[in-house]
Amino acid sequence: MSQAVEQGTLFVISAPSGAGKTSLVAEMLRSDSKLGVSVSHTTRAMRDGEQDGVNYHFVSRDEFEAMIARGDFLEHADVFGNYYGTSQVWVRETLATGRDVILEIDWQGAEQVCRLMPECVSIFIVPPSAETLRERLTGRGTDAPEVVERRLAEAVEECRHAVEFDYLVVNDDFAVALADLLAVTRSQRLRMPVQQERHGDLLAALSERS
Ligand code: GDP
Ligand code: ADP
Ligand code: 5GP
Repeated sequence: MSQAVEQGTLFVISAPSGAGKTSLVAEMLRSDSKLGVSVSHTTRAMRDGEQDGVNYHFVSRDEFEAMIARGDFLEHADVFGNYYGTSQVWVRETLATGRDVILEIDWQGAEQVCRLMPECVSIFIVPPSAETLRERLTGRGTDAPEVVERRLAEAVEECRHAVEFDYLVVNDDFAVALADLLAVTRSQRLRMPVQQERHGDLLAALSERS
């Protein structure tokens, strides 16, 4: 008998640029093979060390606008003057296979996705202080000084939206923040509807009188 596959859970993760979300999500994927991350499309320039199709799908503004017109995006937003967007088809198809999906997107995208898919679980990551954010963005060495200043200014706006999220994780000690994130993803798999699907036979057997 074919069994219906339980839909995966959609996790939406936002943070000010430099808070550590890309590093944390990369580590989450290494720790948990049931998690997948959506590779966004963007019009921003590729950084040293980035690869097309791995970090992002890098496209021109014309290509991005054609994708918007075709309805290819689940959400898209203008962040720091560049377009960023999430593929509709990839997210829906991956969730349908039962895998959990992480979106690493800005607060505007998070708002759009949580409206479209209210069952999603949203997490906001913050640095322990504004000074630490500046040190991390500068220390990462991927952005020009004026880009860093712009991202720090935008961080204030991003953080104003933190309270709209389901969970808040402070990325001070990396290992603690990683454990916190994995606790959230793990706890979703213990919810009764998910467990009933997985352990229906056990619950039925334990509920029968012998
Ligand atoms: P980083 O956060 O400093 O690594 O910078 P990025 O250039 O990778 O990301 C810039 C911003 O775009 C961040 O706020 C991301 O969360 C956001 N972002 C990335 N991908 C998407 C997406 O597919 N949709 C939306 N709405 N935002 C995205
Ligand atoms: P984001 O994707 O949110 O912009 P990154 O993952 O690129 O952030 O992290 C920004 C910089 O801070 C990187 O150089 C990363 O190695 C560093 N970093 C991330 N988390 C921590 C932490 N807990 N302690 C110290 N450095 C960190
Ligand atoms: P960066 O240019 O440093 O890679 O990303 C800057 C910001 O864009 C980050 O806050 C990141 O979360 C956001 N971002 C990346 N991809 C997407 C996306 O697909 N949609 C939205 N809305 N934001 C994105």
